[in-house]
This record gives sequence, C-alpha cells and structure tokens, in this order.
Amino acid sequence: MKITFPHMGNSYIALSALTGSLGAEVIVPPRPTRQTIDLGALHAPEFVCLPFKVNMGDNIRALEMGSDTLAMVSGMWACRFGYYGRLQHQILRDAGYEFDSILLGRDDLRVVYNKFRSTAKGNLTLAWARAFRLFRLKAITVDCIETRARAVMPFEKERGTTTRKMKEGLSMVHAASSIDEVKKARASAVDLLDNIDLEKTGEKPLQIAIVGEIYTVLEPAINFDIERRLGEKGILVHPVMSVYKWLFRPLKVDPSITVSERRARKIAKPYVPYVLGGEEHQTITGTIDASRKGYDGVIHLYPFTCMPENICRSILPKLESKYDMPLLNLCLDEHASPTGIETRLEAFVDLLKQRRKKPHAPS
Ligand code: SF4
Repeated sequence: MKITFPHMGNSYIALSALTGSLGAEVIVPPRPTRQTIDLGALHAPEFVCLPFKVNMGDNIRALEMGSDTLAMVSGMWACRFGYYGRLQHQILRDAGYEFDSILLGRDDLRVVYNKFRSTAKGNLTLAWARAFRLFRLKAITVDCIETRARAVMPFEKERGTTTRKMKEGLSMVHAASSIDEVKKARASAVDLLDNIDLEKTGEKPLQIAIVGEIYTVLEPAINFDIERRLGEKGILVHPVMSVYKWLFRPLKVDPSITVSERRARKIAKPYVPYVLGGEEHQTITGTIDASRKGYDGVIHLYPFTCMPENICRSILPKLESKYDMPLLNLCLDEHASPTGIETRLEAFVDLLKQRRKKPHAPS
C-alpha cells in the first residue's frame, strides 16, 4: 500500500507515523504551492471552498508520485467538509486516476482497521495499538515544538533562526520511528529552541489571537505563513487550534479537548446556538477569550465561501465593539497575494502599536 493524505500544517508527521507503523509506504506530497492550488482548482467546482482545491492538488501530486491509496478525514457535520473525501475521490476517478480510498470518519471503522491487515506485521490489534501510541506522541510533540517556537520567535536576535531550528527539530521528530526516538528528538528540538540567542528589550510584546477556519489557521502555505510573519515582527501569536486538537477532537480520547469544545459552545451559544460544522464556536469564544486574556488584537482567517466562518464574519464586528478588541478579517482564496496580506498585517500591527502608546477610552 502506498498511502497519502493531503497536507494540513505539520499533521503529516503524525499521520505518517500512524500509517507507516501499520506497514504502509507513506508518500507525502510536496508542501502546497501556487501550482498545487492551480492543479486542484482545475478539477474542483468553482465555488467550493479553498481547502477543497488545495487538498485536490495535494492528492493529484501524490498520485503522480505513485500513491495508490488516498486517505482523507471526513467531517460528519453540516458544512462541506463532510463531503470532501467522497467528492474529491469521485472527481479524481472520473479524471482517470485509479486508487483505493480510506475515508476516516465516514467509513465503518472496521473497514479502516482491516485495510492494514495485509501490511501490518504480526498481530493487527497490537500493530494498531503501537501505531496509535506513536501517532499520538508525535502529534503532541509537534504541538510542543510549535508552541515553544511561537514563544521564542518574537525575541530572536537574528530573524529566521527560530524557523530554521523549528524545521530542524520537526524533521528529527518525523524521522524518529520509535517512542524512545521521538522522546529524544523532542528533547533535542526543545534544546535547539531554548538555545537561540534572544534580544532582551524589556518591552512587553504585542499579543494576537488567531481564530477562524482550521485549515487556514494551520496551513502556512495558505495563510502565507502568518505565524512566522507576525512572530518576526516581534508579536506573540496564539492560534486557537492546533494539529493535535484537530487530529484528536473526533477521536474523543483526550478529555481536555472535549471540555474545551463544550466550553467554547457554551460561551458562543448566545451568538451561534447551532453546530454549523466548522470552527464557529472556537472563533467566537477565541475572540472573547482574547479580550479576557488582555491580548492586543484578533486575526480572523477564513476561506472565501466558507459557510460557518462567513456567519462568524457577520458576528465578529459586534464582539469587536463590545469587547473593544481590534479585529482583522482575512478572507483567503486562490487569488490572495502575499503582498496584499503583508500590507494588511503591517497596517494592523501599526494600529495595535498606536493603541499601546495611547491608552484609549473603552467604547
Ligand atoms: S469549514 Fe468552511 S472551508 Fe472548511 S469545509 Fe466547511 S465550509 Fe469549507
């Protein structure tokens, strides 16, 4: 089995560990680029949301690299994510590609379990247990390294060092093939980040929460590497979602994720009383939390035509005035440009700096 899955931030590290430990050969497509989006857009319905097009492009690139099995996580809620896997795979088959499908969240779990019967070594249940342990540890480790890098980047002396060291650390984790190796890789990665030369200005950095649709929050190729851009401007960034939360939310094995989901729904209920299928509750609650935690601003990322986040888009201005929290909405589609995003970020950061200098009267 030559398995692949679309990119979503650094989730490929954990997903490669899971499927690789089950004996599959993992084919990771190159990180999404303009070419990936164009390739996906060519085969996708015009008004489907941007992540669908990018995922399609990733799948095509992986199929061209020799992959014969496409894995995809499917949503079960109201938004289009519930149809992504099936629809993408149908379009690709109509375009002449031949492959097997694994649709997590839609297929009966027994079907997914049995797909690896011929690839896993020894007892299948034990192989799944080992694979799941490695999968979880790698997802937690990725989260830990990303969080550490975010905390260090605004203070680095030489711009770009944290990004370089983080990549180095993440590749060590990706290459690790056992629990012990992952633990060692994590220690080395954290060590690399902890030994970066820092500038001590004594100034309190600006803090910005990033809320919105999960793919645009987590995938740097689509959000124009917004975390790095802000971090290198000396800003502490707090995304409300992470690869770990995304991977483990549907599995319900981590009570802390379930508790924070329930909390988000409760706080957002006066604004969004229903489940829309995306990250609407985290977007609303993340914005309110940003104000409670004393952050300086909120950036809302969402794909053009995203149903749940367009609903949030109409609610967030109310929160902006109620909580006196500056908000920047960034709508992303295949026509967004790095220059346009950079200009808006610079203007937003300037505004936040001015607010810091001149304390304002709350509205
Ligand atoms: S959350 Fe938005 S972008 Fe994601 S699948 Fe649903 S509608 Fe599309």
